[in-house]
Amino acid sequence: MTGPIPPVLIVGAGPTGLTAACVLWDLGVPCRVVDRRPGPGIAPKGLVLWSGALECLDRVGVAARLASSALPLAGASYWSKGRRLAVARFGGLTGTAFPGPLCVPQPVTERALHARLTELGGTVEWETEATAVTVERAGASGTAESVTVTLRSAAGGGEETVTVPWLVASDGARSMIRDSVGIPFEGHTFDRTFLIGDGLLAGAGAEAEVQHHITPDGVLVIVPQPDGHRVFFDIEPEDGDDRTEAPSEELLQRLLDERGPGGLRLHGTWWTSRFRVHAKVAPRFRAGPVLLAGDAVHAHTTAGGQGLNTGIQDGYDLGWKLASVVRGCDPALLDSFEAERRPASVRAVANGDQQTRMWLLRSPAARFVRDNVMRLLSATGLLERKALPLLAQLDLDHSASPAVTDLDGARAVPRALRLGRRAPDAALTPVQGTTARSLHAHLSDGRHTLLIHGDHTAGALAAHAAATVRTRGTADAIRILWLQPTDPAPGPASTSGPAPAPDVASDPAVHRGLGWAVARERGVAFGGAGAGAGLPWCVYLRPDGVVAARSGAAGLDALLDLLPSRPPHPAPVPAARS
Ligand SMILES: Cc1cc2nc3c(=O)[nH]c(=O)nc-3n(C[C@H](O)[C@H](O)[C@H](O)COP(=O)(O)OP(=O)(O)OC[C@H]3O[C@@H](n4cnc5c(N)ncnc54)[C@H](O)[C@@H]3O)c2cc1C
Repeated sequence: MTGPIPPVLIVGAGPTGLTAACVLWDLGVPCRVVDRRPGPGIAPKGLVLWSGALECLDRVGVAARLASSALPLAGASYWSKGRRLAVARFGGLTGTAFPGPLCVPQPVTERALHARLTELGGTVEWETEATAVTVERAGASGTAESVTVTLRSAAGGGEETVTVPWLVASDGARSMIRDSVGIPFEGHTFDRTFLIGDGLLAGAGAEAEVQHHITPDGVLVIVPQPDGHRVFFDIEPEDGDDRTEAPSEELLQRLLDERGPGGLRLHGTWWTSRFRVHAKVAPRFRAGPVLLAGDAVHAHTTAGGQGLNTGIQDGYDLGWKLASVVRGCDPALLDSFEAERRPASVRAVANGDQQTRMWLLRSPAARFVRDNVMRLLSATGLLERKALPLLAQLDLDHSASPAVTDLDGARAVPRALRLGRRAPDAALTPVQGTTARSLHAHLSDGRHTLLIHGDHTAGALAAHAAATVRTRGTADAIRILWLQPTDPAPGPASTSGPAPAPDVASDPAVHRGLGWAVARERGVAFGGAGAGAGLPWCVYLRPDGVVAARSGAAGLDALLDLLPSRPPHPAPVPAARS
């Protein structure tokens, strides 16, 4: 490559690093990505994509291509002593385009992300290993913080030292970078060995239900896949069991016969694995210019399928925040990465940890209590209402994050648009510049969005915001949406706020091409206005759809100052072939 040097280096092109890379390129910031493997991952480790991760993949333009080959999972059941204790039906989550989980083997997700990265102009330098990392702290003479990485390329055989302003460490559970910057990995390892087999399961029903058979000797979990099934078990580790060799089909069949409902035959296995599971979270996700994400900072048990999902959400969060900082936002925005993603990781790890402990209960009294609690949770519907939103990771609360704030006049914003929470959906009638019939559909391209609500005064505010964004050269990353009330009040623009805009309501041609869209709310959006009904209000929705800031007309300029203020970073030019 020649020309400008990418401001971000990503080490590790697993699902976390690939997601971060796609978001950065999509938001106008090129990055360099290296991985020591020869190509995208081929081990079908993570299988289940939940709604939160699917929304992130949708915003980077990958979810639709996954959906065509995915298997929507119908539910999960829990069995003990051959009896069905509990069931949770999937697919009922509201306020999202992804109401239930999809089964997609991890290599399919990784290949789709890699293909998208290539479309966006990025690439992965395979067979390139990071071997050393040094952080240069900001100097007294004003030199900026930076990080120097040594890269060894198997293909070229050479070693290279690069210095970058930002390093993303998405280098997996044994992260060399985490160790190099002195961040410990805290938590515990379960004293059980886990065995996995992916193959064909003769005798299994057609229903796409995940079954958990909980026996005194251990658990059997059966997960339907698009082309077969996964079975997995926990077993007593042998003394000092550090074995990693894959289990035989015979051993997996014996356990299936002992723990399963009977009549099932595993054959044609294409992947088997033996491993230990951990519940760990690093105490810090950042060391100056080094930001750590995915398995590098959290290790989950397989229960609930949260590792891959949490990593994709980390990659998404880090990607848009780094892109914003490179494009002029206050670098303090990056403090919110750890502030938001660490609690989310702690919650996901704790959730898997609790489920795994529940599987492993041995005493008859504890098992009796567990079985009855499961029965009760299922019968009352609590299992679906509580457990599924937790697994989907859509209900995250970032209200304490340093990246969210209320500005002048925020009281006018409807209460349903809660600071630090994902914006609820609202039905829209597109008027101009958008075809979206709902707010979430309008947000699905993962841009920073300014939602400005009200009649003609709000139109003037929207025109002012659009002009500011155009002047700064940031229209590729920022959308302005003027949301009109169902019946906009007639009349001229009020005297408050910036200069009035052309009367776009009566002349839609005027604003075409100005970089902003107009929609009308259908019914009363967001449960009605906040304090001071009728006043215009403004909300900044981050690329992840979370309410980052709220204001009235007077706070609009302060709100605009929170957005990226620089044009896209120039991309390196591929070297000419001779
Ligand atoms: C057996 C098994 C079963 C699993 N089952 C599930 C499941 O059912 N559900 C679920 O959600 N999750 C599951 N997981 C976890 C899931 O696979 C991980 O959470 C996910 O892969 C994390 O993605 P990542 O990108 O953070 O890390 P990884 O996928 O580990 O990617 C890290 C990348 O960094 C590269 N790398 C490492 N060091 C360097 C270096 N020094 N230089 C260059 N490149 C480097 C590696 O080659 C790799 O490509 C399972 C994991 C295992 C091991």
